[in-house]
This record gives sequence, C-alpha cells and structure tokens, in this order.
Amino acid sequence: MNEEQILNLKKELSSPKKIVIVPHKNPDGDAVGSVTALYGYLIQSGHHVAMVSPNDFPLFLKWMEYSDLFINYEQDQLKADTLLQEADLIFNLDHNAFHRAGMMEKALEEATSTFVMIDHHQQPDDFATYMYSDTSMSSTCEMIYHFLDMMEDTDKITPEMATAMYTGILTDTGSFKYKSTTSTTLRVAAHLVDNGANSEDINRKIYDVNTPSRMKLLGVALSNLVILEKYRTAYITLSQKELDDNNFRKGDTEGFVNYALSLDGIVFAQIFIEKASESIIKTSLRSKGDFDVNKMARENWDGGGHQNAAGGKSELSMEETVNKLISILPTYENELHAVVI
Ligand code: 5GP
Ligand code: MN
Repeated sequence: MNEEQILNLKKELSSPKKIVIVPHKNPDGDAVGSVTALYGYLIQSGHHVAMVSPNDFPLFLKWMEYSDLFINYEQDQLKADTLLQEADLIFNLDHNAFHRAGMMEKALEEATSTFVMIDHHQQPDDFATYMYSDTSMSSTCEMIYHFLDMMEDTDKITPEMATAMYTGILTDTGSFKYKSTTSTTLRVAAHLVDNGANSEDINRKIYDVNTPSRMKLLGVALSNLVILEKYRTAYITLSQKELDDNNFRKGDTEGFVNYALSLDGIVFAQIFIEKASESIIKTSLRSKGDFDVNKMARENWDGGGHQNAAGGKSELSMEETVNKLISILPTYENELHAVVI
C-alpha cells in the first residue's frame, strides 16, 4: 500500500463503518491471530465489526481473545450473507483469492463493499481496492503490525492484540524457525512482548495441549510414513478410518507433515489426509531450501501456498492419490536433487 492509499484508508476509517473481517477456510493460528488482532484495533474506533469464518477452527486456538465472537459461515450463513451485503469494508486476511474462503466465495464475489487485502501468499487476485500483499512476510500477523505502524496506531496495541499477533507469527514461522523469520520479524515479536504478549503462556496454550488420542494418531501417521530416497521425499497417509479410530478432532493433524520433513536428507514431504465428508483427500506439502511446493501444489494438487509450505486436495482414492504422487515425482527429480541443505 502506498502513502496515498494509506491516507485514503485512514479517511475511510475516520468515521464508524460496517466492517467484516474474513480469514481463509480452515483458519490456522495466523488467520485467527490476524483477524482477532485487527478486530481488537477496529472496535476501538467505534466501527461495527464482525468476524466471519468460512468454517470452524481448531480447539487449540479457541482460548484466544474474541475467538468466541466468530460467526461460522457453515452454521450461520443467512446472518453472514447479510453482514457481507451491508458491509462498507471487507478485510480479507491471510488469503488473496475468494476461492480460499471456501463456501463464502460466492457471497464475496457478490459483495459490493470496498475490499482490503492483507496477505503474504503468492499470486494475489485483483479484487482489493486496498492491497497489502507481500510474499516476503513471515505471516499476516506480522503484516497487521506493520499495517498498524503505517496507520500510526501502534499505541493502540492492547495485550490481547499483541497476544493474537504473536500467536500467528509463532505458528506461521514454525516457532521462529523458517527462512521467513527476518530480523524485522523478531523486532516485531519483541515489541509484541513489550505490549503484553507472554511467550511462555502462548507456547503452552498452542503446543502443550496434546490429547492421548492425538498422540496415538501421530503414532499411526508415523507408522504409515514412506520414504522415497531416490526423490529425497517422504510422505504420510491417514485414512478416514484411522482418523475415526483415534477420535480425530479438527487440528489434530497439524504439524504431522513436519515429522516427515525432519528426516535427514529429505527435502520434500507430503501428507494425505482423507476427508470423507467432502469426498476429498486434503494434502499438505512442505520443503527445505528452494524446492517450491507452491508451484507443485498449483501444478498438481489444485492448491497453492508458499515456497516451503503449501496445501491442496485430490479427488482420487487414497491409493490413486499416492500413485499420482509417485508418477509426478520423476518430473521434479532434478529440482529435488539440486536442493542444497
Ligand atoms: P497447511 O498445509 O498448513 O494447511 O497450509 C500451508 C499453506 O498452504 C498455508 O499458507 C495455506 O494457506 C496454504 N494452503 C493450504 N491449503 C491450500 C489450498 O487448498 N489452496 C491454496 N491455494 N492454498 C492452500
Ligand atoms: Mn499465514
């Protein structure tokens, strides 16, 4: 966003507006963190703000301030559609294409509001009047901090907002581990700690909330791990039955794919998780170095994301899906071998 856009947006926000904030489908820590942090900011200026999520999000994020105020589009479509139709402004956070909002896609296309996009994924669609898109950013939560800075409003950061932003930075950087963690990211995190984010508390609430069922499911996932040394690749499958047998709850498989990627010498990892309710297999892709899983997800799995973390889906059976992976790997063999780690 340039200076002029910032000034215009400031002007728009200088009187109370009807605002809807939307994360992507299957919201993660960065999505819930950025939406609730922005909510905490906007309500201070007397705006009428609603947060509408395309679907539910995991229990391990439900301790977050304002997370109980989300309207779930799957459960309250009528109310959400009215809010979207009447909104002056719609903020799309942590996604850059309407289809990433799942069932809300049509309602977003039909909305006549002014759109504001704040996002760090590649290849943004062109729907927003105000577009703050930066693929070099660690997280949308870091961008919310920079956005508040541009608005000259960092003094409005409450401990709840600081906690929300810290949470999204923490989860999207793999605990400050990924390449996207810059010195600026760390400085932003430090400011958030100064403003009331408690790192130990947040880490405990996000990462130390395992259930025995989730641990058992992880055991199943690890026993299903397949290593394809020739392609420096490892993959994991989880069938609907395996999920059901271990009392699967939303969010339980978060991070499983990283175990495959943590193998020495492996540069590409993929997990396939059956979702019988949608007749699809949801997949997550992760890589080390410069192997581009965003490209792979776009080319083969009807998805996208970032260079080192992407997602997508398959409408084939699990067996056919795995065969598809095996059949496409030779195309990437040279790229996989070229990765320097
Ligand atoms: P995850 O594998 O953790 O669900 O997602 C990793 C990254 O890929 C996230 O940035 C997420 O937004 C993106 N992503 C996940 N699933 C999809 C998908 O189906 N389509 C697209 N375009 N991006 C996805
Ligand atoms: Mn993100």
